[in-house]
Amino acid sequence: MSEIVLSQVNKHYGTAHHAVKDVDLTIADKEFVVLVGPSGCGKSTTLRMIAGLEDISSGEIRIGGRVVNDLPPRDRDIAMVFQNYALYLHMTVYDNLAFGLRNKKVPEAEIKKSIDQVAGILGLGEMMQRRPRQLSGGQQQRVALGRCIVRNPQAFLFDEPLSNLDAKLRTQMRLELKRLRTQVPTTSVFVTHDQVEAMTLGDRVVVMKDGCIQQCGTPLEVYTEPANKFVAGFIGAPAMNFVEVEIRAEDGVLMAHAPGLRLRVPERCRQTLAPWVDRRVTMGIRPEHVSIKPSDDPAGSGHVEVIEQLGSEILLQVRVEGWSLTVSRVDPQGHLQTGDAVSLSIVSDQLSFFHPETEWLIK
Ligand code: ADP
Repeated sequence: MSEIVLSQVNKHYGTAHHAVKDVDLTIADKEFVVLVGPSGCGKSTTLRMIAGLEDISSGEIRIGGRVVNDLPPRDRDIAMVFQNYALYLHMTVYDNLAFGLRNKKVPEAEIKKSIDQVAGILGLGEMMQRRPRQLSGGQQQRVALGRCIVRNPQAFLFDEPLSNLDAKLRTQMRLELKRLRTQVPTTSVFVTHDQVEAMTLGDRVVVMKDGCIQQCGTPLEVYTEPANKFVAGFIGAPAMNFVEVEIRAEDGVLMAHAPGLRLRVPERCRQTLAPWVDRRVTMGIRPEHVSIKPSDDPAGSGHVEVIEQLGSEILLQVRVEGWSLTVSRVDPQGHLQTGDAVSLSIVSDQLSFFHPETEWLIK
């Protein structure tokens, strides 16, 4: 069992900077967990503490049941994939793959067997005698992965491994990583600032901000039930719309009002929003839950401000009274023009409501 457990882990850089705050996180055996958040939120520091490349200021880290706080990286039985691949440039691919095993004095015949197997999985067969400079970025990344796999460690740690690749290759490597996971299931922690990478790769996604975990859940959980406004705005593209609304009770029905917009509060939020009648809250609306199709009972109306044609869909910025709203999944064949008046229908059972000051989900 290669579970990784972080208990109340903190990292201070000097006295002034508290980079990681009271992190509690359990990564189950063979689970793939992605740490995601904006630059500086503490995700790499967290990963580096698991790896042993950074001391922890307080707390405990266990890997496979063993407390590793004071163990050097080489004794933690983990393998790390970095953004810059960290391959030995003067060595062939074969020797790069063999390096870790030779250090452990594994017999050459056994090394060859492991490398042949991994080369098959990663499609590296033809490249064994080349040096890293003779490989493309994607191929180098594959060698870096291969080097981790041959060591058969308890866990893989990935530090933004796809960031240096161009967009197309990144998508391709993402698929390869997914395929690899089914072939070589291993406990993994993957750090990225890219929410698409997090959503597509993670069994669970851990969203961080200012050194704190904001939410930890499956990709669908963090998307459909964001714990706070930060998570709601960070996960999902285009980003969720936020609008200040006043909650009013009208004939026993709760309604949310903003300038130019009036809609029913979803049934599931009626109880939680009852104390908010005649007060303001922040309402979150996903762009895909707004439609501009004509309706008998539109929630509001506005004017098209910006049109972004993506081929498969159109993204619109719609100006309502004094505020704007992003609308996605608009028919790309529609003959819309800037300035057109549009009515707005909103799937109201998908709305989220956040506390206006704390910004946490009202529940
Ligand atoms: P992320 O990976 O989310 O971009 P990091 O974990 O690298 O963030 O950094 C978290 C915070 O700690 C940042 O504010 C960063 O400036 C700070 N930090 C990281 N490494 C050091 C260091 N060696 N000394 C001082 N501050 C650091």
